[in-house]
Amino acid sequence: MNAFEALGLNEQLVQAVTDLGFEKPSEIQEKAIPVLLSGTTDFIGLAQTGTGKTAAFGLPLIQLIDAAQRHPQALIVCPTRELCLQITNDLEKFTKHTKGVYTEAVYGGASIMMQIRNLKRGVHIVIATPGRLIDLIERKAIDLQKVKYVVLDEADEMLNMGFRDDIDFVLKNTINRESTWLFSATMPPEVRAISRNYMETPKEVTVGKKNSGNANIDHQFFVVQAQHRYEALKRLIDFNPGIYGIIFTRTKADAQEVCERLAKAGYDIEALHGDLTQQQRDKVMARFRAKNLQLLIATDVAARGIDVDGITHVINFELPDDMEVYTHRSGRTGRAGKTGICLSICHSRETFKIKSLERMINAQFHKVDIPSGKDVCRKQFFHFMDKLMQTDVSNGDYETYLPDLMEKFANVSKEEVLQRVAALEFNHFLKYYENAEDLNRNDFGRDRKDRRDNIRGDFKPTESGNRDRRGSSRNSGYTRLFINLGTKDGFYKASFLQFILDESSLNKEVLGKIDMREMNTWVEIDSAASSKMIKAIDGKRYNNRVVRMNEADGGFKRPTDEGRGEGGARKRTYGPPKERRSFR
Ligand code: AMP
Repeated sequence: MNAFEALGLNEQLVQAVTDLGFEKPSEIQEKAIPVLLSGTTDFIGLAQTGTGKTAAFGLPLIQLIDAAQRHPQALIVCPTRELCLQITNDLEKFTKHTKGVYTEAVYGGASIMMQIRNLKRGVHIVIATPGRLIDLIERKAIDLQKVKYVVLDEADEMLNMGFRDDIDFVLKNTINRESTWLFSATMPPEVRAISRNYMETPKEVTVGKKNSGNANIDHQFFVVQAQHRYEALKRLIDFNPGIYGIIFTRTKADAQEVCERLAKAGYDIEALHGDLTQQQRDKVMARFRAKNLQLLIATDVAARGIDVDGITHVINFELPDDMEVYTHRSGRTGRAGKTGICLSICHSRETFKIKSLERMINAQFHKVDIPSGKDVCRKQFFHFMDKLMQTDVSNGDYETYLPDLMEKFANVSKEEVLQRVAALEFNHFLKYYENAEDLNRNDFGRDRKDRRDNIRGDFKPTESGNRDRRGSSRNSGYTRLFINLGTKDGFYKASFLQFILDESSLNKEVLGKIDMREMNTWVEIDSAASSKMIKAIDGKRYNNRVVRMNEADGGFKRPTDEGRGEGGARKRTYGPPKERRSFR
């Protein structure tokens, strides 16, 4: 029996999810669907975006609808227009094989008359943002009397955004409600109050730990002086040539200013802020979603509800004040089983926040150096060479020119050609970074060592007692290696250790700390042995997968390595910024 069918879903819905390529239910789907299908049980689902929660409530909702009754039977309330459209889009896919169930999205910033007309045609499921819903209720354009199911999605975000009264109003005015389903990433007291006031002995389900971060996200932080924030950001972007990311700032002014400076320097970036019209906002989002825009910079408010697949990096230009905001920000990456990286640029006075973040999201943060100019150049260089080698030459009529080319280059060596290509592409870039200063704040506090030990609690000090094992520890002490194998590949620490030692014929004394996650592992190794280890492991096959191992933080990746977490296949690739060289 199909696993979705086993949860009680009908044939049409099972077919729809099969068409979407869903092979088995996610955890929240497994726990929610059988309960929600009863139609009469109140439900609280503590789940982040990316867990499959839309299908968890959407599928049972569709099955509970009586298509013959052409009036709103279900109401889904969510914080933003983006989320509203996304839920509607998902529901339309789920109803692919279910005849006669109609959905309608109602949200601000679009013609209310059109929405009223569509509602009049008779719809079963209304997906709404709170403001527009209240507007429609006041205009008597929507009848809540026969609504049986109310879903509050991202309840915590709705309350953060000040929609408390609107939610109260909706719940008070759906008097024939048979059940209320509340989904939220966190459970602050205000959300608890809603469940107390409007729900009856709800069944509560938590996916993962409460408030926990996504295990697929690698959290890294960088300590710089305040005046170096912008330059540090730039360097992080340059160090990740395949980045497809969102940068968060605390204020609208910062978002605008940083965006302007980066755009002027040739970066492919746009800002999302409250001053944009809905049309401008949609345009930016459409470009970003289609991966025609590499970077988006936004404040938390402007970025609410943004839900884009395949984000490789989230960058915190500054750490947020509210620690829960961090979870929301970092949750934009590492979705649907993919890995992601969340980078935070901190001031030395903010490093104490890291510790509470680690506790709050139950994950380890890695302190990493801002890459040196040299590191950046090396990374860009190999990224470019990688692209060069992957360029598809099967479509052009290059053979025609080959004899002439061969003649022209008859007396030029391969080395010289490579050097010239490199110079052509990188002269500007190298020049920019030629005298780049070290941006790392090396002197944070008299009690630096203590703090370091606190922050990175379980890191062994390196032989040289270095502040950080990346870069500075490369020639003495430990080097941190990244490997794309983890618990998902059936490893646990001891078996993994055995595997890498057997493969490399090294003995276990060379190894330090092992940090194992679901998809990846970081291993500390005596720097003197690291290249032997990489040589032995990188490129090997394990369970039919190519194993990648490279220096974790400062090291560049081998030319053929696009590694997970670097964005995978791009519709387009991104070159270095125009300020150094204008090409694409
Ligand atoms: P959500 O948390 O609802 O935003 O879903 C996150 C992503 O996971 C969406 O792209 C869904 O299409 C996808 N998804 C949801 N459920 C499943 C499943 N059971 N198997 C595979 N992908 C899923």
